[in-house]
Amino acid sequence: MRIRKPKIRELGEAMRAILKGPFTTKFPFEPPNIIPEYRGFPEFDEDKCIRCGACAEVCPANAIEVEEYEKDGKMNRKIRLRYDICILCGQCVSHCTTGKGIIYTNKYSKNTLDRSEIINEVEDELILCEKCGKVITTKKHLEWIADRIGEKAFANPTLMLLRYKEMGISPPDEEFKNLKEPQEFLREDTYKVLCPDCRRAAWMKENFQ
Ligand code: SF4
Ligand code: SF4
Repeated sequence: MRIRKPKIRELGEAMRAILKGPFTTKFPFEPPNIIPEYRGFPEFDEDKCIRCGACAEVCPANAIEVEEYEKDGKMNRKIRLRYDICILCGQCVSHCTTGKGIIYTNKYSKNTLDRSEIINEVEDELILCEKCGKVITTKKHLEWIADRIGEKAFANPTLMLLRYKEMGISPPDEEFKNLKEPQEFLREDTYKVLCPDCRRAAWMKENFQ
């Protein structure tokens, strides 16, 4: 086969490569030169993520898992992002409840033999209904709601109790318990951390029975 003579353009490229160095990079032996704006793998922000799980609902690849489990006598929720499944679509970043709980990094490679490196996890304590035991949400989620609505949080007993706890004030349970007859509906039930169903039932009993 006849070897074609190099064209002027190819000679020009060869000269440029000799003078400026190769166009290719030595990745993975050297870190690549990534521009700061590069939209790589998303990562949770430990402080700004409230562990609500909304990102798991919108992830088209099911790369975000929500796990609820017991630890040291308390229920916890873990949100786990799996980079081996993530398709870098950015839906989790666009739909994050706080808008800052998960952010893009400029990391684009997750090649590793260590599986723990392809996982990004955040966890928090779960708040349970004191009447029925159902999960309400995470502590961070309630705190975030209370922060957003400011002093109006004191209109909601669940948020009010959260605020009382932060301020080191005991809830008024005992006071109400002493006032009530045992056969009556207990008014202190309205001053408990309740799920929406129990809150509704408690107010209905309090106001209409
Ligand atoms: S970037 Fe897309 S695929 Fe990856 S975790 Fe977020 S929503 Fe899921
Ligand atoms: S705050 Fe954002 S990143 Fe954190 S769990 Fe909720 S939606 Fe996901």
